[in-house]
Amino acid sequence: MKTYQAIARAFRPQKFSQVIGQEPVVKTLLSAIALNRVSHAYLFSGGRGSGKTTLARLFAKALNCSSSSSDFEPCNNCPSCKEIATGISLDLIEIDGASSRGIDDIRQINETIGYSPTHGSYKIYLIDEVHMLTKEAFNALLKTLEEPPPKAKFFFATTEPHKIPDTIKSRCQHFPLKRISEENIIKKLQRVVKELGGSVENAVFDLIAQRAEGSLRDAEGLLDQLLSSSQEMLTAEKAALFLGIAPGSIFDALDKAFTEDRLVFAFDAVQQITESGCDLTAIFEQLLQHFRKTLHKILCKDPSPYTDCQALLILEYLLKTQSELKNAISLPLKLEAAFLFIIHLHKKMTLEQLVARLETLEQNLLKTAAPSKTATQNISQQQTFTQLKSDSKAQTITSIKPEASLSAAVAPLTAPIAPSKDSLAPAKTVTTAASKDSLAPPKTATAVNTKDQPSLSKTSDKQRIETLLQFAAVELEGTIKRH
Ligand SMILES: [Zn+2]
Repeated sequence: MKTYQAIARAFRPQKFSQVIGQEPVVKTLLSAIALNRVSHAYLFSGGRGSGKTTLARLFAKALNCSSSSSDFEPCNNCPSCKEIATGISLDLIEIDGASSRGIDDIRQINETIGYSPTHGSYKIYLIDEVHMLTKEAFNALLKTLEEPPPKAKFFFATTEPHKIPDTIKSRCQHFPLKRISEENIIKKLQRVVKELGGSVENAVFDLIAQRAEGSLRDAEGLLDQLLSSSQEMLTAEKAALFLGIAPGSIFDALDKAFTEDRLVFAFDAVQQITESGCDLTAIFEQLLQHFRKTLHKILCKDPSPYTDCQALLILEYLLKTQSELKNAISLPLKLEAAFLFIIHLHKKMTLEQLVARLETLEQNLLKTAAPSKTATQNISQQQTFTQLKSDSKAQTITSIKPEASLSAAVAPLTAPIAPSKDSLAPAKTVTTAASKDSLAPPKTATAVNTKDQPSLSKTSDKQRIETLLQFAAVELEGTIKRH
């Protein structure tokens, strides 16, 4: 039986061309070899699993390879390459800065650094998590860095470059490594599965990439676990359950509940999620990602059940909620509230939407009314409207009945939003705070009766406009109150 090797190790890049997501760094390192301008100290910084030690080892291999290719890739066949690959090289000394952090550890380096390399051209010291060294250790290291023997090289790797003294940093070439994109992680995982011959649903790669948060090593570790968890086809549903995250279908269901204005979904879904043992904090992260993608879709003019305003409001809400999660009394309740907020947005109008609709309405009205009106009337009508838009203190409106003929003009106000009984149907008595300092003269709506309306007459137009303005005022006031 073949010895099992973890994916991260078995598929570790053996050549620079296999490194993903760090192209600029690879290019610089190769060109340093090509120009024979290799510095004596390098610092690779970046998040976990971004490829710091992988790059350092590859660089060491390329520097010490006795038969590297014309593009300076290591041959992976010479004694030096083989020894580095198996971790037994005497020319690449790997030190864990977290456990060997004292001055004595650095003194040991200083004592051996003068010896000649065995196979390769250089004696290379790779210190991982170098920021963990003590102050005294850094001081001892600094002495060596100031006057390094010609055949010695130092490679440092760290997740926290800001903790390294400036005196050390200034003697290194610093390469900050990028977080590996989800797209690149997915590509690598797909290649691994193709080579291993597993049967994996495509959505599984998305789930792993999301969960790995830019760490290729984490992603490979998760894939390892998932592949050894079952011999059958690995579905997204199974993977989600295994990873403790919500399957993507739950977000599709949320979008549907939003479209249908079905608030009860919030309770059912949260119960289901809690019972399946999902990590609720991870779900908030997934929700954020879902709406980030939704907003991106909207901005690219792709169809979406949400408007840009709604997606922005949801993102704002989720970001705020996420910062409160640590102190939350109940995560399921927080999630329920988030779902309710999202679905309820279906009914809510944002101030921007309302103003846009009022403007459309105004345009439509002016177009309809223009032939029967003088310029002065148009101006005064516009003024009233502008006043209403800027003045949130609406008036007392009683018994407004929309006429059938108004529906065309009202349409833009109601169209994209499903009319709800309580928001758009005329209230019998709407009492609002009438302000004494209000600029507009107080208005009392008169009952509008369709039968009394001679079509297209001046009186009819005036009444129509007034009624519509009153509607607009009620809507506007409601929206402002909600803000
Ligand atoms: Zn070689």
